[in-house]
Amino acid sequence: MNTTTVNAYAATSATEPLVRTTIERRAVGAHDVLIEIAYSGICHSDIHTVRGEWGPMPYPLTVGHEIVGVVTEVGTEVTLHRVGDRVGVGCMVNSCGACANCLAGVEQYCLKGNTGTYAATDQDGTITQGGYSTHIVVVEHFVLKVPENIPYEAAAPLLCAGITTYSPLAHWNAGPGKKVAVVGMGGLGHMAVKIAHAMGAEVTVLSQSLSKRDDGLRFGADHYYATSDSETFTTLANTFDLIINTVSAKLELDSYLSMLALDGTMVNVGAPPEALPLHVFTLFTNRRSFAGSTIGGIRETQEMLDFCAEHNIAPEVEVISADGINAAYERVLSSDVRYRFVIDVATLK
Ligand code: NAP
Ligand code: ZN
Repeated sequence: MNTTTVNAYAATSATEPLVRTTIERRAVGAHDVLIEIAYSGICHSDIHTVRGEWGPMPYPLTVGHEIVGVVTEVGTEVTLHRVGDRVGVGCMVNSCGACANCLAGVEQYCLKGNTGTYAATDQDGTITQGGYSTHIVVVEHFVLKVPENIPYEAAAPLLCAGITTYSPLAHWNAGPGKKVAVVGMGGLGHMAVKIAHAMGAEVTVLSQSLSKRDDGLRFGADHYYATSDSETFTTLANTFDLIINTVSAKLELDSYLSMLALDGTMVNVGAPPEALPLHVFTLFTNRRSFAGSTIGGIRETQEMLDFCAEHNIAPEVEVISADGINAAYERVLSSDVRYRFVIDVATLK
């Protein structure tokens, strides 16, 4: 079957800046949807990936897994989407569909491994290429409906930053009467604050400094502390029911775990490449738990989009042209993101 050549931005190695290029998209199969991409978010995972921090990568590689656009063609068997629909694609584009986890609707935990939106081996043996491109072809089940009242460019980061924080907040029952802390207020962190607040929890931000305090309170935080101040850890000892750690770098876990109250859980969604050591004695106190969570299933991702539409929640975005991607990466790396860069894909055409 014929492929289509489309414009894209790609990494050619772990050390070179990303460059303009073209990539191939497969012909639209019976169960596929062709999407003309409008906006594509920049996730810190894109940076970990292209820089080879999580392991060797297949270059050239186009990343991006926060995708919104319009359906421009559907396969003959497609029933879920129509031409003209405003849709989104997140971090995965396929899974086995038959294992216990897929059948339970948690395709992100597919026992055969979900197919990532980029850098994964697709069912036809090619390497998947992500959203820093003008078009993408995706199996209909992995395509989400983006509610009309979410601003177009702001919808993109919900597909990763939104669902990655919504899922653990929902799973660990953030809500009225619960004290939730969010560590790191970047792309994921600022969404965690907005969503936890909308769920009714009492929200505390733990950021490196107080420089973003006004923003945090505006996003719905009740309290804001600097982790550079060691007093923070003594003041907040034994306080939280749930801590969502969104930090992209290695943290000293014991001092954060010490802030958990009885039966409290700290969930790591941040994905630093290094191992994070901890002392089990810190867990014995207050019967604490340390957990991990990754993205969310397709059903839950749609639930999150509808929740954000209902509660008028949208990410704070800085829209950039494709040629600003490399500069944006540097700003993300220096914690100077307010609060998600989103590529205007029209600038790739
Ligand atoms: P981001 O926008 O760069 O935000 C990370 C925040 O962490 C920064 O803004 C900063 O917040 C804080 N931080 C950075 N370096 C730090 C350090 N050395 N010490 C303490 N705090 C530091 O990144 P993101 O896109 O939100 O992603 C965050 C992490 O989640 C990445 O590792 C990413 O790969 C991972 N991730 C995981 C999943 C998943 O499924 N589990 C999904 C998406 C992303 P302050 O300035 O407020 O301190
Ligand atoms: Zn991501």
